[in-house]
Amino acid sequence: MQGRFKKIVAGVLGLLILAVIGVRVIAPLMLESSLNRQIFFPDQKVADATRMLHTDMLIMDWHTDTLLWNRNLLDQAERGHADVPRLQSAGFDLMMFTTVTKSPRGQNIGKNTGDSDNITPLVMVQGWPMRTWNSLLERALYQAEKLDHAVMDSGGSLAWVRNKSELTSHLEARQNSAAPHSVGALLGSEGAHPLEGKLENIDLMFEAGYRMMGITHFFDNELAGSLHGVSKAGLTDFGRAAIARFDELEMIIDLAHVSEAAAYEILALSSRAPVVSHTGLKGHCDTARNFSDDLMKAIAAKGGLIAVGFWQEAICTPTPTGIAAAIDYGIKLVGEDHIVIGSDWDGSTESITAPDFPLITQALQKLGYSEASIRKVMGQNSVQFLQRWLPNG
Ligand SMILES: [Zn+2]
Repeated sequence: MQGRFKKIVAGVLGLLILAVIGVRVIAPLMLESSLNRQIFFPDQKVADATRMLHTDMLIMDWHTDTLLWNRNLLDQAERGHADVPRLQSAGFDLMMFTTVTKSPRGQNIGKNTGDSDNITPLVMVQGWPMRTWNSLLERALYQAEKLDHAVMDSGGSLAWVRNKSELTSHLEARQNSAAPHSVGALLGSEGAHPLEGKLENIDLMFEAGYRMMGITHFFDNELAGSLHGVSKAGLTDFGRAAIARFDELEMIIDLAHVSEAAAYEILALSSRAPVVSHTGLKGHCDTARNFSDDLMKAIAAKGGLIAVGFWQEAICTPTPTGIAAAIDYGIKLVGEDHIVIGSDWDGSTESITAPDFPLITQALQKLGYSEASIRKVMGQNSVQFLQRWLPNG
């Protein structure tokens, strides 16, 4: 009997261990592979001249959600779109890492409520600390810690860019070193619901390294209506107070996902230029994900940046040529000083991966864009913006 009992216990334990491995290791891996799908272009080769330009020119991306997934930023992965080795090989100098903390079940670009959340089971399955299970603020702070640890472990391949002086040192280090260059890391939040309705949490997020704040993500929150929410409303009183505090702390406001009513209010209220960190242009790709061309013109008139994304709902044709066509439309609409890059890599999108990024430059060259114009869109506009709008320090 005893021997048989031991066998049963061992069997049950074995099954439990297998179940834990299944849930904790295999499930997150399969989930990420199914959500962050890759598109490859094996028949498109990057010409040597384009490759050289990529090594030489400054490149910045305003939006990647890699911190949401259980991957080490410093290790090259087979799945997903971006990590430090892949970014380095494509010539990236600056990356805005953006954090997702809540996303509704059945998420769509038309209409969502904030009643359900897919991120709660994701953080549990991925084994994030329990403090993140029911706090959106803790989810934001945990992702800031992940980035901070990656910077510390990187041996210089990843560096914080939190203020003007860190930006200057990062650019100087680049000039004095051979490729592959270090990737400068900035941190931004997809929506301001991690504030949990408390203004003092803005300061906590700033201290954790956040320098860009979205207002809403896919659902209406304490600050405003979402572009994909129910009310499509403008700012609340709390939203107006938060905008004032973002301005005081010199945090960059990201208008991506906010309702058009709120975006116009922010343009009138804020003393600073905003960014749309990942988007397409409605006149080029008419979906509910994109702002009207008139709003985009108002954003550019305020000195803002419009970061063109790489996925279907933003640009309609998620290929290097399709991305170049969206950039081309944007340049014709608002001028080449206001168009930049905002991939939305690892944001549950189907996209080209970082190693294929130079194919976009090649497509712009084929459209007849000069090296000077390409340099602006790929990084120079972004660097000039950060030189003006990052906090002193
Ligand atoms: Zn987003």
